[in-house]
Amino acid sequence: METFDISVIGSGPAGYVAAIKAAQLGFKTALIEKEPHLGGTCLNVGCIPSKALLHSTEHFHFAAKKALNHGIKIEKLSADVPKMMKRKDGVVDQLRQGVAYLVKARKIKVFSGTASFQKDLSLRITGKSDPNIHAKHTIIATGSTPIALPFIPQDGTTVVSSTKAIAWNTVPKKLLVVGAGAIGLELGSVWSRLGSDVTIIESLSQIGAGLDRDVSQLAQKIFTQQGLHFQLGTKVTGLEKKGKKTFLIADKNGEKLSLEADKILVSVGRKANTKDLGLDQIGLELDQKGRIPVDSSYQTKRSGVYAIGDVIAGPMLAHKAEEEAVAVVELIAGQAGHVDYKTIPNVFYTYPEIATVGINENEASALKTKVKVGKFPLAANGRAIATDSTDGMVKVISDANNDRLLGVQIIAANASEMIASAVTHITYGGSAEDVARTVHAHPTLSESIKEAALGVDKNAIHSL
Ligand code: FAD
Repeated sequence: METFDISVIGSGPAGYVAAIKAAQLGFKTALIEKEPHLGGTCLNVGCIPSKALLHSTEHFHFAAKKALNHGIKIEKLSADVPKMMKRKDGVVDQLRQGVAYLVKARKIKVFSGTASFQKDLSLRITGKSDPNIHAKHTIIATGSTPIALPFIPQDGTTVVSSTKAIAWNTVPKKLLVVGAGAIGLELGSVWSRLGSDVTIIESLSQIGAGLDRDVSQLAQKIFTQQGLHFQLGTKVTGLEKKGKKTFLIADKNGEKLSLEADKILVSVGRKANTKDLGLDQIGLELDQKGRIPVDSSYQTKRSGVYAIGDVIAGPMLAHKAEEEAVAVVELIAGQAGHVDYKTIPNVFYTYPEIATVGINENEASALKTKVKVGKFPLAANGRAIATDSTDGMVKVISDANNDRLLGVQIIAANASEMIASAVTHITYGGSAEDVARTVHAHPTLSESIKEAALGVDKNAIHSL
């Protein structure tokens, strides 16, 4: 049986980053992946392909709805969806090659197959060659898969998960999206921009569960103006077929809704992948949500077995997975690996984007933390006016006792890039005044963060 210092199961952002870090620190490393390509959900069917489509359709939307405002006339505009998909596939392929190159260059041994634990903590890899391997330390990074709703069974054609909804070659006439989280809003936006009549159904009373209520309401208003429809406080209960037609059945305050659909995207969350791992063989149990419990060093109850990424508790985000990957390997190496969970940003890549870090006003009030709040509308920002991107706002929240920065929420074009400075300030324990006194280039959308920070003490220059 071949032996390693560290074996990593799963090659998503958690797994391949852990493997690279392990090799970097001189460990003999194995990486096991059951799918044909490295990169996991994020690279193959998640973050990257969805962002490629969001970018292409944003250009299309600009050409169709905004170009004329800039004096740009485009005649006979049409979308070549198969070409758009081909470009997206090309982006994914380029990044797959990049990951494969890095892994090979670091001399990480890749095994193709499904890994499962044996009683002695060795791994059986079921694939083409079926080897068994043993490692001193094994890191489980098996990620997650979409949650299915049993009362609306997915047939892969009409009722689908995000994996299929990033690969349609034609635009569905009527698309119903179940779930107004990041994936539902992003893919709803993609298809709406291409001309689909999109309705997003959500059981909660707001879009983007957990978002600050001001932010959520403004975002919903903007998305509605863009043509998305919302049914909030609406619980999906089943599916009906009448001839060739499909109807989604839902309950809104006791009223039965029957919504016709050409396609239904179910995006109600994701569940940890633990089924094939043989965890019972090594006596590991799951938490109530089906995730693998770990301690602060990412070690499970079994010494030498660790878990990171979507398969453990915490936000299911690629950058959270990557941070944990580096931390767990550093901890195995006796170094001071650490993830600061208070500073993990969350982004919705809609237009405008929504990016948040730290706590919001609702959470502060639930925690009974007294806060000061500064807000700044993008409509008062020079660059936003110049670039026709005035939809949005920035909200800055600091501790009322010592002005320490607790959270920043941004709705703006490029909010995903803007949030980085807020993350930095929170990481270093900065105050709202620190942000307000930081020089920001003019004209930039980022000046809105500075203005919102000034607004915390009612000192904003460009708003009242
Ligand atoms: P995964 O990426 O799921 O990787 C796990 C890997 O393990 C998979 O390749 C799987 O095949 C393999 N595996 C599982 N079991 C076994 C086994 N027994 N043996 C061998 N291999 C196994 N996050 C963001 O931060 N930003 C975004 O913009 C974003 N957009 C998203 C868009 C969509 C449509 C989706 C679906 C997700 C998105 N995410 C985004 C979430 C992100 O993809 C995940 O948080 C991230 O991929 C988690 O990384 P991971 O390594 O833990 O798991």
